[in-house]
Amino acid sequence: MVKDRIIIIGSGIAGAATAYFLTRRGARNVVLLEKDKIAGAQSTGRNAAILRTMIPEPEINRLARESADFYHNPPEGFSDGPLVDSVGVYLAAKTEYTPTLNKWCDDNPEAKPERVSSKPIYEKIPILAPGLETAAYAADDGVLDIHAIFQGFLRGACREGAKLHLNCEFRGLEVADGCVRGVDTSDGFMEASKVVAANGAWISISSLFNGYSLPFTPYRRHLLVTEPLPEVNPRWPVIWIIGEEFYFRPESGGLLMSGCDSVKVSPEQGEIVEQAQLERIARKASFWLPSLSVAKVAKAWSGMRTFAPDEIFTIGADPRVQGLHWVAGLGGHGITCAPVVGTIAADSIIYGKSNHPAASGMAPDRLLR
Ligand SMILES: Cc1cc2nc3c(=O)[nH]c(=O)nc-3n(C[C@H](O)[C@H](O)[C@H](O)COP(=O)(O)OP(=O)(O)OC[C@H]3O[C@@H](n4cnc5c(N)ncnc54)[C@H](O)[C@@H]3O)c2cc1C
Repeated sequence: MVKDRIIIIGSGIAGAATAYFLTRRGARNVVLLEKDKIAGAQSTGRNAAILRTMIPEPEINRLARESADFYHNPPEGFSDGPLVDSVGVYLAAKTEYTPTLNKWCDDNPEAKPERVSSKPIYEKIPILAPGLETAAYAADDGVLDIHAIFQGFLRGACREGAKLHLNCEFRGLEVADGCVRGVDTSDGFMEASKVVAANGAWISISSLFNGYSLPFTPYRRHLLVTEPLPEVNPRWPVIWIIGEEFYFRPESGGLLMSGCDSVKVSPEQGEIVEQAQLERIARKASFWLPSLSVAKVAKAWSGMRTFAPDEIFTIGADPRVQGLHWVAGLGGHGITCAPVVGTIAADSIIYGKSNHPAASGMAPDRLLR
């Protein structure tokens, strides 16, 4: 039995979605290791929950659109309610960024973004400051129910026999004769024939991987939610102002906002909240939403987005060590793309390869060249 064991390091969305699709392919000895006392509390529980399929990189764009289909039509029993609130997402641009937006639309014809003027945005959000000229609009995009999605993957995997070990920290990869032998953990050595690195920002700690690390870097980003505001309609769409690095959407009666900061950090710095970044968000908010400039902050936090140098996801088998797999570097789109990320990962782990057209471009060997 131990010989067939697949250990997944990390129980965020990457680990949970991989476990879900592994068990759907018949794997019965899947073990998720999580260093924290609860699962999904790191980037998976600290993000903006936006389903945004309009992503400039064509490969990730494709994953996002296919994953959105999963979220709009989840399998029977995945969740009790809808996973997406389709309030719509606008990528909006001032005149000087309109060519950038147009180029992106031209480069991603399969995405079929709807090109619109800024008029419908101002009709929906009359308090928005003037200056936006054009937008790309995705009516079906919107706000994800992160809890339902994460539980759908995790519970779905556990119903099929996957085991979740909480408070169990991965401390090193054991390799013998070019093959994975197992992992050292805070609970002792655990034997496995396959090990899946899905530990989010902590994947950047190269010493954990016995000389077989890959170059990932975590970047910290802040979010805040204002106190409830009478001006805010909870059915407002998500507005992402490109070039201005500012987005907002309704949340808990107020607005969730980000100034899109991106500061390189080590994983232990990932939860630090810097006052200067909150002030930066406030400055952008006072410019774009001047009537809300006195709004109070109800909650602010930060989280990590982790990238490979080319900012493309890394999914698949490590060419150096038999049995080592990566599901990593999901950057700022890990929740949106999780269904297809988990599918590609599980196919690669079980069948040795994924036939998905984007899989070869995401294979880890590119990072070794
Ligand atoms: C501010 C912000 C906004 C974002 N907004 C969006 C958005 O709107 N839409 C979207 O699609 N994406 C968004 N993202 C990105 C998304 O949150 C991530 O891509 C995704 O959560 C990454 O998931 P993960 O499973 O790789 O990492 P994580 O969720 O961090 O999971 C990794 C897990 O591994 C565990 N772990 C780490 N080290 C060890 C160890 N040694 N042993 C055992 N366990 C370990 C951690 O505790 C953690 O639970 C946002 C991210 C941030 C920070």
